[in-house]
Amino acid sequence: MHPHNRKKLDERVIRAAEAALAAQKYVRPVDVLVGIGWLDPGALKRWQRGEVDYLERVVQTNLPRISEAMKLFRSWAAAEGLTASETHYIARAPSRRTLRFSKSGNPTIEKLYRTHWISGELSERKRELLAERASRAPELLVIQPLNETWKCHRCGGTGDFLIMESPGPVCLRCTGLDDLEFLSAGDALLTRRAKAKSARHAVVVRFSKSRRRYERQGLLVEPRALTEAQRELDRQNPG
Ligand SMILES: [Zn+2]
Repeated sequence: MHPHNRKKLDERVIRAAEAALAAQKYVRPVDVLVGIGWLDPGALKRWQRGEVDYLERVVQTNLPRISEAMKLFRSWAAAEGLTASETHYIARAPSRRTLRFSKSGNPTIEKLYRTHWISGELSERKRELLAERASRAPELLVIQPLNETWKCHRCGGTGDFLIMESPGPVCLRCTGLDDLEFLSAGDALLTRRAKAKSARHAVVVRFSKSRRRYERQGLLVEPRALTEAQRELDRQNPG
């Protein structure tokens, strides 16, 4: 591979991994594949339902390039001091079979794909809870840009939030999420309730220049869910 391409891939992998870690406190190989735009979230869901025979079939690049990205991801995770945790991926009912990642089915490769990398800040108990979430779809990530002059690659517009796609950033209007409301992090109870009531949500992260990493800012949720959650909490704690 050309050295320049290699460097570029390195940056994309790290950016995707850092954003997923900020949003979830753990990173999975599938988060990185989605984050760098090689795996469509819809295709990932079909694979999770057992409708695709192996994941690499729906990853939009060749096998050597996937393997290169995964190697970069693992060396980043090890350098960050994250804890490796092997998890199990089972197709949803009715099949409940073990999901296969690789074309080859090689057990070593399968194990690498199944391994999640968990933030060292978390307690043992929290890590176990996270491991249970293994086969869930990744969180939809929305970025609060530092540069306010960014341009949507689909419509040429801009906005307060963007989603990274393989060709470039996209605005919320083009992704059909512009009706969602921003709920700033800080009120854990309100956040949990609003998220549970919202059919769609996204995690908002922003890059901190001083700390040189992505940090979770809050959630985008349906306004109705936010109003209901707020009302519920007001009723429980009047005055
Ligand atoms: Zn747009």
